[in-house]
Amino acid sequence: MGSLKRKLERKQQKKDKKLEKEMSKKMMMFDKLEDHCAACEKPFDKKSKEHVSTWNVVVREKEDVVRLYCPECWGKANKLIEEIQNDLRDRSERGGESSEQSESE
Ligand SMILES: [Zn+2]
Repeated sequence: MGSLKRKLERKQQKKDKKLEKEMSKKMMMFDKLEDHCAACEKPFDKKSKEHVSTWNVVVREKEDVVRLYCPECWGKANKLIEEIQNDLRDRSERGGESSEQSESE
């Protein structure tokens, strides 16, 4: 059954080629990846599983830009967005009155 096996192998190779292409595309993205957080410049360790799984990548395909954010900055950014949204909601609910003290520091 040599020829059948060869046929199957060739099929498999074709699949691998496609996969390879996709992989290299992804690797290209990684190439563009900076090695530090775009906000706080904390170094990103590509070899660290923890970093790879917890850091956030923002891809702007139009601008061909890949940005990297550490979990802390990502959390801060999301919190900020949340706060702004809450603030806006509060304001529209209260009708423009703002006598609340802001908590700075
Ligand atoms: Zn950061």
